[in-house]
Amino acid sequence: MEHADCIFCQIVSGKSPAEFLLRASGLVVFKDIRPLAPVHLLIVPEKHIRSINDLTPEDHDLLARMVFTGKDMARLMGTHETGYNLLYNVEWGGGQRVFHLHMHLLGGWKETRGEHAPR
Ligand code: 5GP
Ligand code: ZN
Repeated sequence: MEHADCIFCQIVSGKSPAEFLLRASGLVVFKDIRPLAPVHLLIVPEKHIRSINDLTPEDHDLLARMVFTGKDMARLMGTHETGYNLLYNVEWGGGQRVFHLHMHLLGGWKETRGEHAPR
């Protein structure tokens, strides 16, 4: 169900613009508007789910598809060998600011020794 006041629902439905890389299997992938890494993509379900906290057993396959899509996009962007982060922020204290489930793909750094990895 689309939420009129949700920016990611607006992007999913094409009412707000974004730089899309993929739309498949109930997911969209687009570039983050404020990239924190050379590669910063958002993997977003078309379905509005608030956060990881709101997942139900029926979302099991959706979540698996998100991670596999993250892996495939990392390969497509050429960051699968140097490394990357697949990241979920959960609720306000966990850094979430857009309350429509999404997974960040962060990567594209040259270094291979993990200087950018979260501790
Ligand atoms: P969160 O902190 O909720 O995990 O991450 C939300 C992300 O969405 C942020 O990295 C932010 O830059 C990105 N973002 C917020 N609004 C927009 C938008 O309108 N378009 C795009 N492409 N990214 C957005
Ligand atoms: Zn939404």
